[in-house]
Amino acid sequence: METADVVIVGGGIAGLVAARELAEEGRSIVVLEAGERLGGRTWTDRRLGRDLEMGGTWMHWTQPHSWAEVTRYGLEVTRGPRAEETYWLAGDEVRRGNLEDFMGLIDPGMTRLLEETRTWIPRPDDPLAVEGLERVDELNIQQALDALDLSEDERNANEAAWVGHFNGPLDQCGFVSALRWTAAAAGSWHLMHEASAIYRLKHGTGGLVASIAEDSGADIRTSARVSRIEHDDDGAVLTYGEGRQIRAGHVIVTLPQNVIGQLPVEPPLDERKTLPSEEKTGSQGVKAWIRVKGPIKPFFAYSSQHHPLSVVRTEYLGEDDAVLVAFGADAGRIDVNDVEQVTEALRTWRDDLEVLETTGHDWMSDELAQETWLIQRPGQFTRYHAAQQRPEGRLHFASGDHANIWAGFIDGAIESGMRAAREIAGPVR
Ligand SMILES: Cc1cc2nc3c(=O)[nH]c(=O)nc-3n(C[C@H](O)[C@H](O)[C@H](O)COP(=O)(O)OP(=O)(O)OC[C@H]3O[C@@H](n4cnc5c(N)ncnc54)[C@H](O)[C@@H]3O)c2cc1C
Repeated sequence: METADVVIVGGGIAGLVAARELAEEGRSIVVLEAGERLGGRTWTDRRLGRDLEMGGTWMHWTQPHSWAEVTRYGLEVTRGPRAEETYWLAGDEVRRGNLEDFMGLIDPGMTRLLEETRTWIPRPDDPLAVEGLERVDELNIQQALDALDLSEDERNANEAAWVGHFNGPLDQCGFVSALRWTAAAAGSWHLMHEASAIYRLKHGTGGLVASIAEDSGADIRTSARVSRIEHDDDGAVLTYGEGRQIRAGHVIVTLPQNVIGQLPVEPPLDERKTLPSEEKTGSQGVKAWIRVKGPIKPFFAYSSQHHPLSVVRTEYLGEDDAVLVAFGADAGRIDVNDVEQVTEALRTWRDDLEVLETTGHDWMSDELAQETWLIQRPGQFTRYHAAQQRPEGRLHFASGDHANIWAGFIDGAIESGMRAAREIAGPVR
């Protein structure tokens, strides 16, 4: 049977970073990726005449692992145009102003909602450190917002901002995720907002993925879906592809929270790793790219979690067209490839936009992802986080989903890939 020192299940960013870190130590590394491409939930694809990010996009210098990669590979960072107009809803009424007006409206709510951030998460790199966090973790973010007793305008606006961040119905998303994001941004909600949604790689995440893969020198196999892992004290045998087998001294499993429970492992994994797959994540939404006829002024628009598209903004401006990026809380409620449905969704704010083309990837129906960016349900963080990270014999686990600092982000994927590699190889000397 073929052998390797380490076999990595999944060629997303966590898996590729782990491969690079271990290959530097001179081990034989094989990456088995089920899909036909690398990058997992990051995917730069040519659509609507531009290179668009179907998945993970924005990153920031407050994200230490992402920024180290930006520096390492000399990647250029850019941003979309600044919004000149902002739309939001107060009940069914459309309000219009500039982005500062909207930010001013949500500021008191955001400040109160997040005022205990540093009490509960003083160290985002050690997010379970404070005793009693499980009580806070029972709250969903809708309950936390309702407790503020905001005016209707403020409540609508704050809910809209959070549904943009959390990509799911607010009563299914844990409040602790809001605290963790804000803790990672040193307690500032403004910085958290900037870190999660403004700056992106000029040449796409595809360039980053290719750089890490090439740098790793690992034996990377695509269309190599792992269907079974049997492990013992000495290593593991993985079955993949059309029944091929490989023996590994160590394995790193990088599957998303909603997927890992579906992989047969013998002896079985700690159920705190597999139960979250059954319970599912709180995030369950969509991301759409929409080309509209131009010229238009760049704009930002927020509706609510009950609308098919909750957040829309201009990301690229052409001379006679513009490309908008949009998010909705429920992938089942809109087909982002259907021009009519998308046009109808945009009418929430404006009926003057002519939609030329629209596209997106349905991550919720993609069996290799089954989620977008991770937002856990109430209780999942304190119940499962430590167990999700913990090695089991020769099996190790990496995923942006259970990173410490920026869980659910590209940064978290890099952090977790580094950690799993160091568990196997020990500290770099
Ligand atoms: C729509 C969307 C928007 C996002 N926006 C942002 C953003 O703006 N900024 C940000 O930082 N993050 C964002 N994210 C999150 C970010 O993309 C992810 O957190 C990160 O890419 C996760 O990397 P990973 O390697 O942990 O997991 P993944 O990328 O999911 O990698 C897991 C890999 O395992 C493979 N796989 C699955 N099953 C098997 C199997 N049985 N055998 C072998 N391989 C298998 C998958 O194909 C995949 O390649 C977004 C994600 C989505 C989907």
